[in-house]
Amino acid sequence: MQNFFRLLPPVDAVLAALDTDPSLAALPRAMLRDAVTSFLDGLREDIRAGRLTDPVQLDHALLFAQCARSAAAATRPHFRRVINATGVVVHTNLGRSLLAPEAATAAAEACLHYSNLEFDLTTGERGSRYSHVLDILRTLTGAEDALVVNNNAAAVLITLETLAKGREVVVSRGQLVEIGGSFRIPEIMAKSGAILREVGATNRTHPRDYENAVTPETAALLKVHTSNYRIVGFTKEVSLAELVPLGRRHNLPVIEDLGSGNLTDFTSYGLPGEPTVQQAVADGADVVTFSGDKVLGGPQAGIIVGRAKYIAAIRKNPLNRAIRIDKMTLAALEATLRLYRDPERARTVIPTVAMITAAPQALAKKARKLASLLKKSLAGRYTVGTIPGASRVGGGAFPERDLPTTLVALSPLAGAPSPDALRARLLTTDPPLVARTQDDALLLDPRTLADDELKLVSTVLGQALGE
Ligand SMILES: *Cc1c(COP(=O)(O)O)cnc(C)c1O
Repeated sequence: MQNFFRLLPPVDAVLAALDTDPSLAALPRAMLRDAVTSFLDGLREDIRAGRLTDPVQLDHALLFAQCARSAAAATRPHFRRVINATGVVVHTNLGRSLLAPEAATAAAEACLHYSNLEFDLTTGERGSRYSHVLDILRTLTGAEDALVVNNNAAAVLITLETLAKGREVVVSRGQLVEIGGSFRIPEIMAKSGAILREVGATNRTHPRDYENAVTPETAALLKVHTSNYRIVGFTKEVSLAELVPLGRRHNLPVIEDLGSGNLTDFTSYGLPGEPTVQQAVADGADVVTFSGDKVLGGPQAGIIVGRAKYIAAIRKNPLNRAIRIDKMTLAALEATLRLYRDPERARTVIPTVAMITAAPQALAKKARKLASLLKKSLAGRYTVGTIPGASRVGGGAFPERDLPTTLVALSPLAGAPSPDALRARLLTTDPPLVARTQDDALLLDPRTLADDELKLVSTVLGQALGE
């Protein structure tokens, strides 16, 4: 063991060897020294614990390379780009929507320069940060007024707090949803101070159920889009168009939490059943809330549109200050919304919308291209094939509906890492790649891969396999 310790290179020798490594050029000297010291400490620990048994493992060239890799890993930011090969378009864990270049540029501009965030350029006086998206939201949705906040959970919270605190809100039992990350309608309702008045049964709710629940204590009728699950079989939901006259008769606001909130009608792309924001407004909803970064394809935001008197009350709520939208988001949101003025352009340049509506033939072609790249680099280790499969929209939109795609499937030949082992190794590459496995294959879905990422997929597979 003593001999093993003597085989370790001195700190300065490692530092000298690493000095010429371009991947470490940006690392401050003191941090590099710390990285080397802790690398050598780790080796001493391995020797003590008997994990290092062969002097070959202490070859200096080998140690320098290992130390360079661990030092480089220590310099990387914690929050990083990843490659999404899962085919889940609005993947909440991987950052939901990618921004269109116009939106990313607008956000960068807002960071790099001063702006008229809360400054009115016509009067030279203080202005409102909400003014930047007001006209465009009115135009796109047909609503009288609009407000934007930090996210849709906040939008629902402030809407209920403003319109129903201390009073009852009628909701169908079939719509008491939980969205991932602990957003639950009953809990958000409790936080807002509103009192949940459940009506109907899990699978069926009728207009008379709402009608019978209305008392002098009622403050609003709430409809929640059951965005991440579907009730099938013997079911009945009360439509917005049926609920609105009831609200009018009792002078109660009808609120709809649309969840994803798309401005695009996806019916012609084989995805019926998601109501658009425009439709909800046209059907008479008094307040509609939805997310900016789900199917809309913008930055994280909560958008509230509806009747002027309700939106004005929500805007004045002091809670609004606590959940306010920041300038980068606002810039990216306005740029995204502006793209929707030309719906066909929106479909092609907003990445989320483009990925959802990608043509099956285009996906098959991309899969073949990726497969032929990988066949070369993985020859002898994996068989590479293309198979029909399904992608998901994700983010609680179009639940349970599969989007047809073509997957690239990698199956190990003798001696190669198993699909699960390969999946784990791909999380350590630069950038990491997230994929799924099924049966005996690792699956790569081209739907969520940009054209210029295909080469990168091949590169990181090489890294994962130790090249
Ligand atoms: C996603 C979702 C929310 C939460 O929206 P965030 O923007 O993630 O805060 C609320 N309600 C429904 C129905 C949803 O689908």
